[in-house]
Amino acid sequence: MNRYDVAIVGGGPGGYTAALYCAQSGLSVLVLEKLGPGGQMATTDEVDNYPGFDTGINGFELAERMRRGAERFGVKTQFSEVKQAYLREAPKRLETGEGTVLARAVILATGAYPRTLGLPREEELRGRGVAYCATCDGMFYRGRTVAVVGGGASAVEDALYLSKLCQKVYLIHRRAAFRASEFQIKKLSESGVVPILESRVTELHGSETLSGVSVESIPSGEKTLLRCDGLFIAVGRIPDTALFRGQVALNSEGYFLADESTRTEIPGVFAVGDAREKPLRQIVTAAADGAVAAHFAGQFLLESSDIK
Ligand code: NAP
Repeated sequence: MNRYDVAIVGGGPGGYTAALYCAQSGLSVLVLEKLGPGGQMATTDEVDNYPGFDTGINGFELAERMRRGAERFGVKTQFSEVKQAYLREAPKRLETGEGTVLARAVILATGAYPRTLGLPREEELRGRGVAYCATCDGMFYRGRTVAVVGGGASAVEDALYLSKLCQKVYLIHRRAAFRASEFQIKKLSESGVVPILESRVTELHGSETLSGVSVESIPSGEKTLLRCDGLFIAVGRIPDTALFRGQVALNSEGYFLADESTRTEIPGVFAVGDAREKPLRQIVTAAADGAVAAHFAGQFLLESSDIK
């Protein structure tokens, strides 16, 4: 059976920063990650707002560096999914695809997954024209026409990334302006991406694969058929917290309730990064959460040294 001082669920920037700080203070640490390191960050082509990289850095590369940086201090990574968690036991118990993990403290760094549009046939056409990750699937649309839906930083970044690969990129947003930084908006205006504002996608067309979408103008109600081979949906994310519902308090949108100390109401359980209720979700704020959680986890372990 695997026993650690601290088990961290999720290997994104919050998880690996917590791991690094815990390991540097002499604790034994396991990071449990179901896919690969980095979480949402690893699917970002170019990260321009994480300090220290004067020409930007690829998100996957940054994720790998964070993993290696933590493992340098003895952190272990186990690629398996947590299936059940018993967070009120002492020690705390996590049942994973690879067996049981026991830990005196647990840091939840589970991040978030993409929201769907909820359109008819969206699930059926997933992977056949409908996609949720531009950096993962963009290469399949090289030289072709695609549309991105959404108006936040992710949608703008996805459109910019795809504009380097695709022949034509539309960016469909239901409002009159995007919710992204000035820097991103400027890049967008120079990219050749065609914005379609105050509009929504109402229908997906195509038999085996996507061949186009119906787009409705919100002010006029007029519908047009937009021919495209791919539709990248970037309309926000849903916190990956369902496994912990009923144990750890969540807000009405499903985010972990933990204040700036990252402490949840369960002693020895901390929540960091995009899955925590907070005003600003960025790589740098997830990393900051990780350092704070490590500090309070260390304090908790000192105060509860009877828990083996
Ligand atoms: P977001 O900021 O929540 O934006 C979601 C966008 O999708 C909004 O424009 C929203 O429209 C639109 N939307 C939501 N539901 C929709 C629906 N059913 N149909 C059509 N449009 C819909 O999500 P995000 O862009 O994924 O970003 C998530 C967080 O990560 C944010 O805090 C963001 O700042 C951060 N992030 C930062 C970076 C960066 O700094 N480099 C990159 C990516 C993400 P409305 O505007 O009408 O609400």
